[in-house]
Amino acid sequence: MTTAIVDLGAIAHNLDLVRGAAPGIEVMGVVKADAYGHGMLRVAEVLRTRGVNWLGVALPSEALALRDFGDTGRILAWLWAPGNADIERCVATGVDLGISNSHMLQEVVAAAAATGTRARLQLKVDTGVSRNGCSVSKWPALVAEVLAAQPLVEVTAVWSHLANADIPADPTVQEQSRLFDQACAMAEALGLDIPMRHLANSPAALTAPNTHYDLVRVGIALYGVSPVTGLDFGLRPAMTLVSSVASVKLIDAGTSVSYGGTWTATQETPIALVLGGYADGIPRSASNRAQVYLNGRLHPIVGRVAMDQFMVALQGAASPGDQVVIFGQAPTANDLAGACDTIGYEIVTRIGSRVPRVYVGCP
Ligand SMILES: *Cc1c(COP(=O)(O)O)cnc(C)c1O
Repeated sequence: MTTAIVDLGAIAHNLDLVRGAAPGIEVMGVVKADAYGHGMLRVAEVLRTRGVNWLGVALPSEALALRDFGDTGRILAWLWAPGNADIERCVATGVDLGISNSHMLQEVVAAAAATGTRARLQLKVDTGVSRNGCSVSKWPALVAEVLAAQPLVEVTAVWSHLANADIPADPTVQEQSRLFDQACAMAEALGLDIPMRHLANSPAALTAPNTHYDLVRVGIALYGVSPVTGLDFGLRPAMTLVSSVASVKLIDAGTSVSYGGTWTATQETPIALVLGGYADGIPRSASNRAQVYLNGRLHPIVGRVAMDQFMVALQGAASPGDQVVIFGQAPTANDLAGACDTIGYEIVTRIGSRVPRVYVGCP
């Protein structure tokens, strides 16, 4: 069976490493998408125990899952559409909400009025990603609307997001930082008090100190997957995806393997059947491209990865029951991602729901 071993000690180590790279700066632990597949509640507990004051999630429902778990600390939820049924409860339970436009603002103002609670807002300005975030042209109007809505709302931060921080020398990182400064200055000139500013994600937290401001929003680095190609920063992978050899057989030269016969043995070849497939999060695009670690060496995946199983061409002896590392220390999630034309983020967040998470290294 495929199992995700999650090393909570590695997450604590990675947090220390980020704090070393951003000394004195508050770290927001980003735990959206079930903590990138690692288990949101377990990860949140580790981070809170280690003095992390801020948790970040995309969806209001993710923030409320933390509240249901008993988390009473600061949480920011930034991605939602008008009509979201969780906004009132977020306001009532003191979840900070990201605000990018007038629709979102008015929804929160209504929730504040309905619940009799002052809503906590973090205004997001778009400095170049062009996804959510208020465009610079509409920024003064949004700030004015927020000021008019006081005291039903309280602005706790102004923030933005970087497009290319994974390429440390990319000039847009500094351009976005300048635009961010201008937007903050504009808001202050209009009379807004800005208690906190934040811009950096993992790669910027690790490589661009002038983007750190008051807080860095760090996800992938906590999970030990490097956000910058070719650098590991001393991060430790928190997740190791393991499985085991179910059976071994010798196939003759000329024999094809798995659906579509996309790989054919050129000589008599020992083949191992490994449990785990795309339903477990091993991309089908790993077929004939990725390698797994077994008995001290790498072995290529041959033929198509199926829903529940894949095959490897053995480069040495193996027996049923032997452990197979699909990714972890080596190969890394980024190695598997590279073979599949994707990024380590997608590899760890798409581990299937039937894969048990086993926690080790509880700090
Ligand atoms: C996911 C996310 C982050 C965290 O990014 P990492 O690269 O994983 O550190 C930060 N900010 C926003 C807005 C995000 O959506």
